[in-house]
Amino acid sequence: MPFADYNSADPDGFDSLGDVAKPDGSQHTTTRLLSEEDAKSADRLIALAELKALTNEPTYGGNVLNYSPAIADLCGNLYFRQSMLQDYRKCPMMFLYRWVIGHEEEDTFFAAVMGTAGHRVIQHMHESRNFAITYVDIMQLFLREFDTACRDSKIPPRLSAKYPTLRAQAQAVCPEYCTMLLGYQRHKDNQTFHATILEQSFVLELKDEFSRTFYFTGTIDQAGYYDDGVFALRDIKFRINDFRPGPTAAKLDLQLTLYGFAVHKGVPSCSECRPKYSDEGELVYAGPCSVCQSLIGTSKWPMLIPQKTVLIWMRDYMPRQKDQYTKYVDDPAGGKEMNPDTGRMRKKQVINDKWIHGYKKGEQAGPGHIVTDRPWAFLQARSADILRLAGMIRDGRFYRNEGEHCEYWCKHREPCLGMLETEVQELDVGRLNEHVATIDPFGE
Ligand code: SF4
Ligand SMILES: [Zn+2]
Repeated sequence: MPFADYNSADPDGFDSLGDVAKPDGSQHTTTRLLSEEDAKSADRLIALAELKALTNEPTYGGNVLNYSPAIADLCGNLYFRQSMLQDYRKCPMMFLYRWVIGHEEEDTFFAAVMGTAGHRVIQHMHESRNFAITYVDIMQLFLREFDTACRDSKIPPRLSAKYPTLRAQAQAVCPEYCTMLLGYQRHKDNQTFHATILEQSFVLELKDEFSRTFYFTGTIDQAGYYDDGVFALRDIKFRINDFRPGPTAAKLDLQLTLYGFAVHKGVPSCSECRPKYSDEGELVYAGPCSVCQSLIGTSKWPMLIPQKTVLIWMRDYMPRQKDQYTKYVDDPAGGKEMNPDTGRMRKKQVINDKWIHGYKKGEQAGPGHIVTDRPWAFLQARSADILRLAGMIRDGRFYRNEGEHCEYWCKHREPCLGMLETEVQELDVGRLNEHVATIDPFGE
């Protein structure tokens, strides 16, 4: 097969971003398994943090807030989803509330639940290798998955004031999603893609330049092979076009970089063998379960560097609402003619040159696929950036980064502002949010 020895560019002995060769020269063995948050263990960790918080008032030191040891402990024990890193970049203080202190969030973004349903429909298409599902069947499938996603979401999705029920809101927005899904299954590049990895959790262990270990976790939407044998990692986005990355941002994309690294150096994980927090609040990992272990080195976890990384931009599959340019323009040569619609004379019309080349009503809005590649050197360099980001979180570097997201995104405005008004900078260490997977609009 043409992809068999693609990985030969991989330098031997690399196992961390400090480029530390393992003494025995082996590869891949430092990767350990972490997984989705374990709610029960998280509760124990929180209880412990609360206990410590009672005896440790947070204080200011210089211009860096020295948080209570409870918070420092929590930061030290965090492992990372890419969405957490994205949140930190948006506003470190929001990150602190959302992911460390676990300040209660009242609802989930509705779009996040719709996205989950959309992902499941696509998973179904690839599992069944059926790319000829009718619009009506897609809709049924979608609504069923929407109901399941709602049930699974521990925090209910946010209901718009316009609709009486979640189901009504879903039904109103559903046609848009089903149109995108219809476009997805019509696209040749999706039909000729053979996903061997679908919605698979992973854990990736990386070391930073100070030999500190960081764990990253996430869910890979798809990896597999095109008909020509190219091994690709693919990620599906239902986001609105405001978020559509340009070519540079797509190439640098943090998530695809991390996931590309994970396919190569990470390991699959499942709910059975996920790491746990001990009673002391330490992260512990007992090794991959036999089922996960058996995937490694197979097509289900081929340990290759993806030759292509593909962002699948679902909004691109929406049909254009109108032509880009008007079809007829006044004839520059002048002259008059009869308007067949009105029977009156008008300036002579000719076909607009621009119209010929512009997009037309009904055409797909975009290519659907934003394709990049990430050679090994690129993955290493870019992952160093990611590690520095994670290192800042571990070091407890939190500050307010105000902006549009305060109003539109952040659900922690009250404590953020409230904390500025109290004399002692008390941080109420509540509970680590065990709902991270379901409240996560970037989790897709
Ligand atoms: S209100 Fe703004 S500055 Fe405060 S935590 Fe939220 S996003 Fe950050
Ligand atoms: Zn497992």
